Amino acid sequence: MSQQIPATLIAGDGIGPEIVETVLAALEALGSPFAWDAQSAGLAGVESAGDPLPAATIASIRRTRLALKGPLETPSGGGYRSSNVRLREEFKLYANLRPARTIIPGGRFDNIDLVVVRENLEGLYIGHEHYIAIDDDPHAVAMATGVNTRQGSRRLLEFAFEHAVATGRKKVAIVHKANIMKALTGIFLETGLALYEQKYKGRFALETVIIDACAMKLVLNPWQFDVLVTTNLFGDILSDLVAGLVGGLGMTPGGNIGTDAAIFEAVHGSAPDIAGRGIANPTALLLATAMMLEHCKLFEQAACLRKAIDATLNIDLVRTGDLGGKSTTAEFTRALVARIATG
Ligand code: NAD
Repeated sequence: MSQQIPATLIAGDGIGPEIVETVLAALEALGSPFAWDAQSAGLAGVESAGDPLPAATIASIRRTRLALKGPLETPSGGGYRSSNVRLREEFKLYANLRPARTIIPGGRFDNIDLVVVRENLEGLYIGHEHYIAIDDDPHAVAMATGVNTRQGSRRLLEFAFEHAVATGRKKVAIVHKANIMKALTGIFLETGLALYEQKYKGRFALETVIIDACAMKLVLNPWQFDVLVTTNLFGDILSDLVAGLVGGLGMTPGGNIGTDAAIFEAVHGSAPDIAGRGIANPTALLLATAMMLEHCKLFEQAACLRKAIDATLNIDLVRTGDLGGKSTTAEFTRALVARIATG
C-alpha cells in the first residue's frame, strides 16, 4: 500500500454518521488510502465545541487541504449561518461539481449522464440580507443583495469549460436569468460567451438557456443537455432537479473545489426524518468518495468502488427504501464490502 493521504473527516449531522460508517468500511476494504483526522461541524460542532464551524476543523482542513464531509444541519430562518457556506468561503471553494448519472436502469429517466457546475461563492448566497421594520412589525420588509463578479464568474466558467474538455463532453449550457436580472446574471452570461469565443470555440458546443425554461426542458428531455454551468442559487436548485432524474438525492455526489482545498460530500442534507433508523442510502457519499479518490489520482480504487456500488445495487439488488428496496444501511455496507473484496 502506498502512503496514506492525510484528509479531514466530518461525519456530520442526522444520517451523516450512519453513511460515513459505510464509507469507512468500503475504504478499509480498498486498503485505507486516507489517514483521517476526524473533526466536527454543524449541529455536532455546536454540541462538541460550541461552534457550527470549530477552529480545530478549519485548522485541520487548512493542513490536509482535503476533506470528506457528511451533511450538516442548518436551521431555517434564524439561527446560525450555514457551516457549508462558511467552509466554501473559508477555503475559496468556488466550484461545485455535481455529476448525475443513472446507476439503476429502468427508472423514469434512463441513461442520464449530466454534470451541473455551480458557482459556489457569489450570487444571492453571500448572506447580505436584512429586514426593515415598519411600525410594530420587525420583519415588514426583507432585502437581499446578490453579488457576481467578472473574476468570480470567469474562474468558475473556466473550471466548467476545462472540465468539459478534460472529460470529452460535447456541449455546455450556460444557465442564466439575464432577461430579468440583467446585471446580476447578465455578467455571468456575458463573461461565459466571451470566454468561449476567446479560448474554447470548436472544442465543444455552447448554448445559453434561461433557468425557468431549463427546468422545464430538463424534465421533458434531459438527454439534450450535457454540462450545465450556472450561478449559485440556480445551481443549487438544478442539482436537486437532476438528482431527481437519477433516483433521488441518495444518488448524487458533489465536489467543492477551490484554490485552497477540496471538500467532497453528498448533495443531500442530514435527512432528519430518517436519521437514526439505519435506513439511509449511502450511495451519494460513496460516489463522493469515488470523486475524492479520483481527485487524488487513485483511479484504480475509485473504479473498484464504483464497480462495487453498481454490483451491490444492480446484481445483488441490495437497495435502501428511497430506491424502492427494503435493505438497511448495514446490509448495504456488508454487500458492498463483499463486492470490493471480490473485485
Ligand atoms: P435532505 O436532503 O436532508 O432530505 C430531503 C429528503 O430526501 C428527505 O425526505 C430525506 O429523508 C431524503 N433523503 C436525503 N438523503 C437521503 C439518503 N441518503 N437516503 C435516503 N433518503 C434521503 O433535505 P432537507 O430535509 O431539506 O434538509 C435537512 C437538513 O440538511 C437542513 O438542516 C439543511 O440545511 C441541511 N442540508 C445540508 C446539506 C449539506 O450539508 N451539504 C445539503 C442540503 C441540506
